[in-house]
Amino acid sequence: MEGRSHLLVGLTAGVVLDSFVHLSGPPLTDPSTKVTLALLTSKAVYYFSVGFGALLPDIDNARSTLGQKFGFISEQIQHIAGHRTILHSFLGLILGSVLALGLERLIIFLLDMRNMQLPASLVEGSHLVFFAVLFGCVMHIAADALTQGGVPLLWPKKTRYGFPPDADWRFRTGSWPEHVIVWAFMILVTVAVWQQYLVI
Ligand SMILES: [Zn+2]
Repeated sequence: MEGRSHLLVGLTAGVVLDSFVHLSGPPLTDPSTKVTLALLTSKAVYYFSVGFGALLPDIDNARSTLGQKFGFISEQIQHIAGHRTILHSFLGLILGSVLALGLERLIIFLLDMRNMQLPASLVEGSHLVFFAVLFGCVMHIAADALTQGGVPLLWPKKTRYGFPPDADWRFRTGSWPEHVIVWAFMILVTVAVWQQYLVI
């Protein structure tokens, strides 16, 4: 899938996840919620983390959205491992978890430095960044599994898996079915939020 599709799918799925587990705090769409700066900060940190996670596995492609930002690092990963290898597997998710924990410490540190102890303690207590980045990565791999190329879930084993299992039923990255799926998912979730089945 293209970077933009990954970002949109990740953020939309992030709304669904947060509706059920309320990682980012009480919902803004609930009239009884007191909207504070701390709450808005934690929402922003949550969606930033999901979005980052949703782009992270494609850092193995120097031409991808995140790859372009990480230039040299990305080129090296692509050179050594290749695109859609370790970072699109269970092993990659373990690596992603370690990175997510590091990013979480960094964000807590930055919030603390700006005297934002309240959101900092919220991030620390709920492991908001960790779960959000990891969820973004999982959504990325799941979305790539819908494409013809599939994903090497059990890397270093080379077998690629996808859904549906027959690759002929899957779409090619960047082709029109990709955009139909992304937009259909976004519209569905927007309607669900509007009808208050889901909350933000
Ligand atoms: Zn990918």
